[in-house]
Amino acid sequence: MTDTTAPFPNLFRPLDIGGITLPNRSVMGSMHTGMEERIWHADELGEFYAERARGGVGLIITGGITPTRSGDLMPLGGRMATPLSVLHHRRITGKVHEAGGLIAMQILHAGRYGVTPFKAAPGSEPSPIHPFKHIRMTDRMIRYTIRSYGRAARLARKAGYDAVEIMGGEGYLINQFLAPHTNDRTDRWGGSTTNRQRFLIEVIDEIRRQVPRDFPVILRQSVADFVKDGQTFDEIALLAQRAERHGVDAINTDIGWHEAKVPTIVTSVPRGAFVKFTERLRDVVEIPLIASNRINTPEVAEDILTHRRVDAVSMARPFLADPAFMNKASQGRSGEINTCIGCNQACLDHAFVGKKVTCLVNPRAGRETTLVLSPTRSAKKVAVIGAGPAGLSAAVSAAEKGHKVTLFESRDHVGGQFAIAARIPGKEEFHDSIRYFRTQLEVRGVDVRLNTRASVSDLVDGGFDQVILATGVTPRIPEIDGVDHPSVMTYAQAVLGEREIGHRVAVLGAGGIGFDVSEFLTTPGGVDSPSLNLKEWEQEWGVTEDLETPGFLTKPRPEAPLREVYMVQRKASRQGKSLGKTTGWVHKAAVKGKKVEQISGATYEKIDDAGLHLAFYEEKKDKKGRVISKDLKERRVIEVDNIVLCTGQESVKELAEPLKAAGIDVTIVGGADLAAELDAKRAIRQGTEAAAKIA
Ligand code: NAP
Ligand code: SF4
Repeated sequence: MTDTTAPFPNLFRPLDIGGITLPNRSVMGSMHTGMEERIWHADELGEFYAERARGGVGLIITGGITPTRSGDLMPLGGRMATPLSVLHHRRITGKVHEAGGLIAMQILHAGRYGVTPFKAAPGSEPSPIHPFKHIRMTDRMIRYTIRSYGRAARLARKAGYDAVEIMGGEGYLINQFLAPHTNDRTDRWGGSTTNRQRFLIEVIDEIRRQVPRDFPVILRQSVADFVKDGQTFDEIALLAQRAERHGVDAINTDIGWHEAKVPTIVTSVPRGAFVKFTERLRDVVEIPLIASNRINTPEVAEDILTHRRVDAVSMARPFLADPAFMNKASQGRSGEINTCIGCNQACLDHAFVGKKVTCLVNPRAGRETTLVLSPTRSAKKVAVIGAGPAGLSAAVSAAEKGHKVTLFESRDHVGGQFAIAARIPGKEEFHDSIRYFRTQLEVRGVDVRLNTRASVSDLVDGGFDQVILATGVTPRIPEIDGVDHPSVMTYAQAVLGEREIGHRVAVLGAGGIGFDVSEFLTTPGGVDSPSLNLKEWEQEWGVTEDLETPGFLTKPRPEAPLREVYMVQRKASRQGKSLGKTTGWVHKAAVKGKKVEQISGATYEKIDDAGLHLAFYEEKKDKKGRVISKDLKERRVIEVDNIVLCTGQESVKELAEPLKAAGIDVTIVGGADLAAELDAKRAIRQGTEAAAKIA
């Protein structure tokens, strides 16, 4: 019987999957952490999972482990193929079991998505997003690979894993067999639906031959490929039925290939956007169905489990952001959860360049054993100046250690640059980060002084042992003739709604903020944007509900832009190069869809009543890249009502020197430390590290 008075009663119901019982309906989905590859990372990786197990997650699924060399994601990738691997993985499973958790190993063969010269795949087309040409698999290679899946599952069980998950989505090897998009074979492994599904069915049979029937096998199945010539719904439904018949115990659903041009996990994707793709399988199978993607709060999870026909929810990044997510939810403390904001900046962006994964809002992720906020034995009086991301993380981390913290903020609210970002369409999740910090300030008893500009004498007279300066940045005002014209405003003024903005607007600067502001200016609704409206989002990205359409893709139909916007930069290079690896393409596609005119290689001549005057020069350079001549090519006046400056920032840190002169121990963090790469990931990390260092 469900206790309906407990918080999130459906989320906290146990669930049987094969021979195991999950204590609740949460699954930590597979994430590559960058620690799977090396044996010497086993203890660290074990501790990473153990912290999540202690935090109450129902079942942990590891990052993808390959069954054979041709399936490596990267050179020398994590593999389960020998008894040595069993020893290494026992250290991981041991830590999770000591912590009272359950852990499944994901078996992933990357196929043409491998970043190695040894990769193999069923079809001929190379991966559009990875280097190296792959080997087209022969019949013999296919049979060997099937056997290697069985071996990996048998060894995983020996290593103490409680289950295995077969990765059958995201465009990896199995998905490459399943969809005509990549399977152009004419032998028994290609052509008809039965032939394309044969590889997976034989993999399931082989695994079942090598592990007992009560050892759970989960299938990560793609239920929407979002690529041309992807699977149809009939094929997906048939595959689910066949998988169940052949011994799969649960289906963890998966959305979109890595090469898909539909965003599936970034902040701008509405929460729970893809649950309907999962619940359609309810009519055809009886085994548990696990919904995934953009489920990041217990409220969303509970709503899905209550109203939709699915049995569990998979959340991956939310457990990076907060390992204690489930415990906090079960104790009715969901306001204290550090919510994943879908930014990808410290997780996927790291994974894609082979860096160890961490989290923008939780810099302790992946550093559980080295960045420790251990309780202090002698509480110090700490002042933190500035309540942006750096100051907030410093204040709550120092307070967590037991220090007596006072947080000074000159504005009437906390959040700093996050409060600006949260008003950008599709970045509404930043409100959750501010909510998290606000709750932590309260729970940890930080003395918050809003509307207070701390002076040197306040800090000296206040008897503080340590000052953390997190005074942030101010927008840079470039030296352009007429920059003080009434049509000109900073991005902060524009986004915070402090100024009226006309119909035709020039955005100066095409960095992260230039792109954000261009989206803000062109999206109908402004801050009350409908960007999280599912129907409109599907139209914008060309997602269809038509079950007959392969891959569920149709022509994108973005809404008409609200304003006519020009985004200008001085560099001649393509705009958007500085954006995140896994999110930049989404922003670039969004401004293109909103018909923003992107102008590069411009020189700002002046601003006046006529608008923005630009000049374009042809430069000749010597062998060392020095400009040796410059000829005027063109002049252009962009007639605009307003000009928004997104031309970078300058650090604000005038308190630093006087404080040091007064003998106060000062640490500078975030934008105040370095404005050039104003970056919330660094800001939050520096704030936490500064607090961790206070003994
Ligand atoms: P940014 O990425 O450094 O871009 C600053 C822009 O201003 C550049 O386009 C630069 O282009 C121009 N600029 C610099 N100095 C100038 C000057 N003196 N006069 C005229 N133009 C000048 O900085 P940002 O856009 O302010 O973003 C700050 C940080 O926030 C970034 O590091 C980024 O990581 C982060 N962010 C990222 C995202 C995202 O990825 N979606 C979104 C928001 C913020 P030219 O020099 O070529 O003109
Ligand atoms: Fe979520 Fe961003 Fe953290 Fe990744 S880095 S887990 S997307 S908050």
